[in-house]
Amino acid sequence: MKSPFIDLGLSPELAQVLAGLGYEEPTPIQSQSIPPLLAGRDLLGQAATGTGKTAAFALPLLQRVLAARRKPAQPAALVLVPTRELAIQVAEALHSYGGKLGTVALPIYGGAEFGRQAQALKRGVHVVVATPGRALDHLRRGTLQLQSLGSVVLDEADEMLDMGFAEDIELILEATPAGRQMALFSATLPPRIAAIADRHLREPERVLIGREKTEKGTLPRVRQTAYVVQRAHKVAALGRVLDLEAPALALVFARTRTEVDELAEKLRGRGFQVELLHGGLSQDQRDRVMKRVRAGQIDLLVATDVAARGLDVEHLSHVVNFDVPASPESYVHRIGRTGRAGREGVAITLVEPREHRLLRNIEQLTRQKIDVATVPTPMDVRARRLDMTRGALRSLLEEGELDSYRVVTDALASEFDPLDVAAAAVKLAHQTLQADAAHDEEHIPPVDLRAGREPWPKSGRAGTAPRGERGAGPAAHKAAGAKRRAPAGGAAMVRIFVGAGRSAGLRPADLVGAIANEARVSAREIGAIEIEERFALVEVSDQIAEDAIRALRATSLRGQRVTVRRDQPRRSTK
Ligand code: AMP
Repeated sequence: MKSPFIDLGLSPELAQVLAGLGYEEPTPIQSQSIPPLLAGRDLLGQAATGTGKTAAFALPLLQRVLAARRKPAQPAALVLVPTRELAIQVAEALHSYGGKLGTVALPIYGGAEFGRQAQALKRGVHVVVATPGRALDHLRRGTLQLQSLGSVVLDEADEMLDMGFAEDIELILEATPAGRQMALFSATLPPRIAAIADRHLREPERVLIGREKTEKGTLPRVRQTAYVVQRAHKVAALGRVLDLEAPALALVFARTRTEVDELAEKLRGRGFQVELLHGGLSQDQRDRVMKRVRAGQIDLLVATDVAARGLDVEHLSHVVNFDVPASPESYVHRIGRTGRAGREGVAITLVEPREHRLLRNIEQLTRQKIDVATVPTPMDVRARRLDMTRGALRSLLEEGELDSYRVVTDALASEFDPLDVAAAAVKLAHQTLQADAAHDEEHIPPVDLRAGREPWPKSGRAGTAPRGERGAGPAAHKAAGAKRRAPAGGAAMVRIFVGAGRSAGLRPADLVGAIANEARVSAREIGAIEIEERFALVEVSDQIAEDAIRALRATSLRGQRVTVRRDQPRRSTK
């Protein structure tokens, strides 16, 4: 069996497991950490969540356990982590790598029943993953014994110190055997961490990820935006962002083969034309995919890094990182695929709250800012789509050659207000152009980054082109979470006159945002929006008209209070 993981010294059986999980190649932290750890060295690794650091320490640890062929007994390895969530997550990772091969990993943390944990320890384990406080409790009561320990890992050491675990960690480390191996991982290396490293690590291998800086100006022109979103809502968030961006062709990166398969399937389900590439495809399949890509038949190509490496496509409008890449270098490499030939490219990155540090590492490396934006609301998408329809109509108007259609408009104009005739035609065009737009009302909760820790302004807005056309920003975001009324269905629509227009810099998103924020309405209750030089007209369902008027009066639009009233009743078109 050929595998880059075997090249690092891992056993064929572990490499087989990784292949089964869809891992195609090691991440940088893994390439640098696995060989020294297998050789028995101590290690000091600077790496944040999202770099693949869990596997970097878990795989060597499991390989030792497997080589010893011991039945589960007193733990052979101890991993200390700051939180209960991380204890569970790391234990799950250990289980996914070693479970089928017979290794037993147990998470123990505060808040859960002590007795049950003690029993599980008594039955025997290979690896214990623990929060320091609870580990110390078990140690004191004799339910956790560390005499057989071959390795200790401190994971997210800086977080553990921040949480006040310094003393507990010292006491636990004192109870470990003298010859044990130790690895310390930390996103940052402040002096207190360096002090622990000095005291407890013996001539450690040092592994730092993402230290080099790129030369200014070597990166292509790319608009870079990140969306912070919980894992469970990532696909919905991406669907929404892609609806808004309407990419000509986006390359979407996922981490593993399995994730590529799943993501492609889910995006297909949302109405996109999707193909995928990963190391599991035959040359034939790959050729077929590339043919469709070149023929412009697809919107999205979902791929792993390895599969995308040899990819030669000219017209990528967007690069999407479904996860933050495992190293800043990989980010730079990926986004370098868009924005070629003088055109501005777009790079979109989905970030889970825990991974926010990785963004900063990337910004340090590239010395470029990544905008952090809120996930667009359905209303943003709708405003943007209306905008696209407007754009399409505008080019038709500029082209002229409409004479053959004047017969229809002239006839109708004798009966109806010409503007109403035009509006009806716009509606028809809009419905036709956007016929396959998904009806997406899913609630994507805004992420509340821990106070004081977020490295970006909370209300960041993407600089989506054309500027200002999108994002009612956090206001609309809040409304998206609000309880919605039933969709307007066939309800009558009325128009609201707003006394500010293009000359005041007013955009559709401002109106949608103001109404949505105050009046808590669903996107379907807001109809066409027209922005003229000195005024604007918003169509809303009759039911919410009063609320919408109140909302618009209560907010300032582009910094000013403006006249808002019901527009003259329309002549009926029914
Ligand atoms: P971590 O930084 O340890 O939290 O890992 C982040 C994510 O990357 C986890 O979901 C892992 O399953 C995944 N992962 C770790 N190593 C690899 C790899 N070599 N290839 C693909 N995915 C990986």
